Amino acid sequence: MPTHKIPLKPIREKFLVFGNPLIEDQEIQEITDSLKSGWIGTGPKVHKFEEMFRQYKGTQYAMALNSCTAALHLSLISIGIHHGDEVIVPAMTFASSANAIIHAGGIPVFVDCHKDTMNMDPVDIKAKINSKTRAIIVVHFAGRPCEMDAITSIAEEHNLKIVEDCAHTIEAQFRGKHTGLFGEIGCFSFYVTKNIITGEGGMAITNNPQYADKIKIMGLHGMSKDAWKRFSDDGYKHYEVVYAGFKYNMMDIQAAIGIHQLPRIDAYHEKREYIWNRYNQAFKDLPVFIPAPIPDYIKHSYHLYTLMIDIDRLKISRDKFLGEMTRHNIGVGVHYIALHLHPYYQETYGYRRGDFPNAEWISDRTLSLPISPKLTQSDIDDVIDTVTHIINNSL
Ligand SMILES: *Cc1c(COP(=O)(O)O)cnc(C)c1O
Repeated sequence: MPTHKIPLKPIREKFLVFGNPLIEDQEIQEITDSLKSGWIGTGPKVHKFEEMFRQYKGTQYAMALNSCTAALHLSLISIGIHHGDEVIVPAMTFASSANAIIHAGGIPVFVDCHKDTMNMDPVDIKAKINSKTRAIIVVHFAGRPCEMDAITSIAEEHNLKIVEDCAHTIEAQFRGKHTGLFGEIGCFSFYVTKNIITGEGGMAITNNPQYADKIKIMGLHGMSKDAWKRFSDDGYKHYEVVYAGFKYNMMDIQAAIGIHQLPRIDAYHEKREYIWNRYNQAFKDLPVFIPAPIPDYIKHSYHLYTLMIDIDRLKISRDKFLGEMTRHNIGVGVHYIALHLHPYYQETYGYRRGDFPNAEWISDRTLSLPISPKLTQSDIDDVIDTVTHIINNSL
């Protein structure tokens, strides 16, 4: 072993946290204001954040919830997914895209993705449709909108409903149209690593008043509309329970962060784009796969910068690469190990390695680099130097 090639000292001294959110003074002031006001549950700030998000996306209704997972679950209930209904979802996604189907009583049916864009493959969607198929969960991966022309026409042809998992694509657009507006309902996440954050938090958007009502009611114990106002100065009002609902409401403490993050979304987007281009430039000639080029009819949200290690040309596995990055104090992520490789889905639905070759190819090679707007120039340089160093030591 040529140990002299591996420096004992990490390239970077202080650990760079992956997906570190940028939190500014306004949020801190706003949370303090909420705490002092005593109104910390669902109140006026949640209402304000919903209204701001509704206008930002150009939709009729926006319902703030405590997560994107909650939004997906309520969306599937609202569109009428029942016991035994099949819902198509990519194998290359986060677990909650599929778990939401199971919680609604449905069966997740996985499809493969493209190797380059990592987005679900319309050809495989078509192949998985049968008489039990009711809906498609479209996941816009890493910030890149899916091929919505093809997917919406398949859905129309087979009378399937679309729910969009827009956890990666708050600001993305396809042919000038915002993600979240292509299907019945669009679901968003403000989890700590997402493009704007509320700590935990999510949003469902729709143009359908029935879905909007159902999501509102089901998200708060199944209590009749505007139950959250019952302690307001309008006077006490009785509520009625009309469904066995869930406890999925967002709090004002969370919305206090969101109402200051959302106006900065374009500034954050610009910073992410800058980091993305720096990485592309630095890595384009190395034995790695960089993200697919972005066509001009797409607005990418640059949520994840995924680097794929060319394990056939390098003497290092992806997992060893992750270990080296961490050793040099650079935080990394893996998005994702495909769902059909996890024990639950294998044991419950009989999925096996080999079922989705492209999702597996990505699972074995991918790693996500820090791309938060909080990164400084020297943070970006450290990431580039570390990746380059590890690769040069693995040739
Ligand atoms: C983060 C994420 C979710 C879940 O979001 P939460 O707000 O944490 O529930 C769902 N789908 C995808 C693709 C995600 O990345």
